[in-house]
Amino acid sequence: MKIIDILKKPEMSLSFEVFPPKKETGYESVREATEKIAALKPAFMSVTYGAGGGTSKYTLEIGKNIQDKYNVPLLAHLTCISSNRETVAGQIALMKEAGIRNVMALRGDIPEELAGEDRSGWDYHHAIELVRQLREDGCDFCIGGACYPEVHPESANQAEDIRHLREKVEAGVEFLTTQMVFDNSLFFTFLYKLREAGVTVPVIPGIMPITNGNQVERAIRLSGAFMPQRFKTMVDKFGQDPEAMKQVGIIYATDQILDLYANGITNVHVYSMNKPEVAEGILKNLSKILGKDFTA
Ligand code: FAD
Repeated sequence: MKIIDILKKPEMSLSFEVFPPKKETGYESVREATEKIAALKPAFMSVTYGAGGGTSKYTLEIGKNIQDKYNVPLLAHLTCISSNRETVAGQIALMKEAGIRNVMALRGDIPEELAGEDRSGWDYHHAIELVRQLREDGCDFCIGGACYPEVHPESANQAEDIRHLREKVEAGVEFLTTQMVFDNSLFFTFLYKLREAGVTVPVIPGIMPITNGNQVERAIRLSGAFMPQRFKTMVDKFGQDPEAMKQVGIIYATDQILDLYANGITNVHVYSMNKPEVAEGILKNLSKILGKDFTA
């Protein structure tokens, strides 16, 4: 099933993101965790590609397992910046062969060791080039793209970032998923600006449940997202108690999702980070609202 068809439905839905293992030895535990999340029957699941150290070679394997065994629609991520057109074309062919219908077309982060290099000779500079390649290839993929309510760190300002985003959408992106947001008002302001700039595709807010006190610093560093004082106070109070902190993260994320639903957003994406208990906790909290019993 294509993600865009899920997003067009009027009912509220939740999707979850997982990432492939960093090493072959971690494969079984990731497979088990992602299967537990798939068994909860989310609206769809996304599998990252080379993010956070996860190897790209397992994206398809993990994704195909979810799709084929649990019949959960899959969104397979694909990055291009450290690659060349031939390798990417090979990856696209593998996706087609695996029956994948949805691709998240991403640039990827520029590796630190290459940050200062002259990149003019590289095959890719921005995600839009990957979007065009996917479209030129004549594939019937539903293509998603990333967006940044608090501005991508490389952009000089939000107007420039939104202008590039609009070009990416015009090139063939059918929906957008945001970088993690911890303050919904930042998402709503961004959505308003996108609509004002003529970006009309569905925009899915990305919610990251912080269930470990040590995650806070890393999440802020990697995403540049604003962390409300209200949440920081909760971390100060409960961050050293792992079980309490897990509950705090689930409740805070549930509260954000509920606020989004109440204000007319129908689809929310959760950065569930291979944690089935977190996915299940959020779904159980919302079972009456979503009208489903989410016991795996
Ligand atoms: P782009 O759309 O290319 O944007 C990057 C920057 O370039 C922005 O500042 C933009 O304004 C600017 N720009 C765009 N087009 C142009 C242009 N034509 N001229 C000049 N400037 C331009 N990383 C992974 O490695 N694997 C993943 O699986 C992954 N999944 C992600 C999922 C989501 C929802 C998000 C939000 C991010 C994800 N990332 C992932 C991280 C992402 O790769 C980085 O944030 C990366 O730095 C930017 O990727 P992008 O696709 O947004 O790039």
